[in-house]
Amino acid sequence: MLEDKRLFLLDIDGTVCKGKQLINGTREFLSEVKQSGGQFVFITNNATKSIQDYIETFQELGITTDYHNFITASYATTRYVKKHYPDQLIYVLGTKSFIRELKRNRIRVTTDCEDAEIACVLISYDNQLTYEKLQDTCELLSTRKVDYIATNPDFVCPVEFGYVPDCGAICQMLEHAVKRSPYFIGKPETAMVDLAIKGNHYTREETLVVGDRLYTDILCGSRAGVETALVLTGEATKEEAEAFEQKPDYVFSSIEALHKAWK
Ligand SMILES: [Mg+2]
Repeated sequence: MLEDKRLFLLDIDGTVCKGKQLINGTREFLSEVKQSGGQFVFITNNATKSIQDYIETFQELGITTDYHNFITASYATTRYVKKHYPDQLIYVLGTKSFIRELKRNRIRVTTDCEDAEIACVLISYDNQLTYEKLQDTCELLSTRKVDYIATNPDFVCPVEFGYVPDCGAICQMLEHAVKRSPYFIGKPETAMVDLAIKGNHYTREETLVVGDRLYTDILCGSRAGVETALVLTGEATKEEAEAFEQKPDYVFSSIEALHKAWK
């Protein structure tokens, strides 16, 4: 039941923000969630920004948040790697800032494909991508026994003028060459939802996943056994939602309409 929800797991792009603009009703909704003793956590596949970047962006939009309000695909990846590859060497194709974040979390990282100890290849969004990095990754994946993971399956990442290729597109390019595809950690896998529920002590029945995309947000909630709400301020349309295999439990025109229905 919608009125029983206390923990709101919100997508960012297309759900609460459109570019650098806040979507109408977001501020009021978040403040009422807090006032009623509930909690909100943004769960995002966007690996281009750190949690600190997000805190600052939301501050500029007049919304005060802290580290507990965010779980990003890169954060979930860090947790995943620490759990599954303790002290093992990870080859990373990603930005310098992503590599820094992994190292800060005491993960052993290399960008040298000749390293004999490599246990796993990890791909992320990379706006510093070079052909050399692609070639090194191909060599590793086709000649060595290594695991293969990636931060998020999104094909595109929204920017000011439209879209640029995201992690999923890089992986698809590699797949043509090496005939392997990675295990993706972001939505629709359930790792971020599981971390959010665990960290906030609410039940799955009290939790709602909110997003604008069917194949990541809605599928993720449904796989995690949590009710889902689709908002029509981003990618998916009402018609697409009706045709989708895992139908969202609720469909709202916007976060504002969700707020009204929940109240
Ligand atoms: Mg979105």
